[in-house]
Amino acid sequence: MPAPRGGGWRDGGLCPFHGDKHPGSFRVHLGTGAFICFACGAKGSDVIAFVQMRDALSFPESLRKIGEEWGLS
Ligand SMILES: [Zn+2]
Repeated sequence: MPAPRGGGWRDGGLCPFHGDKHPGSFRVHLGTGAFICFACGAKGSDVIAFVQMRDALSFPESLRKIGEEWGLS
């Protein structure tokens, strides 16, 4: 799915940070990777913050994990 120019907020599906049953409360910004959940208040400015919260990792651990998941390392 190609990201539209300039990104924008999109439905991120179910929030991974609480027992989400209502798609639509969790939004992701395609341009920056920022995310926010209007139901539980989870938010962050980029994908690194997302992985840190999702997996309860430190900043360097998150970087390593993203690199492994995306095949960057
Ligand atoms: Zn949530």
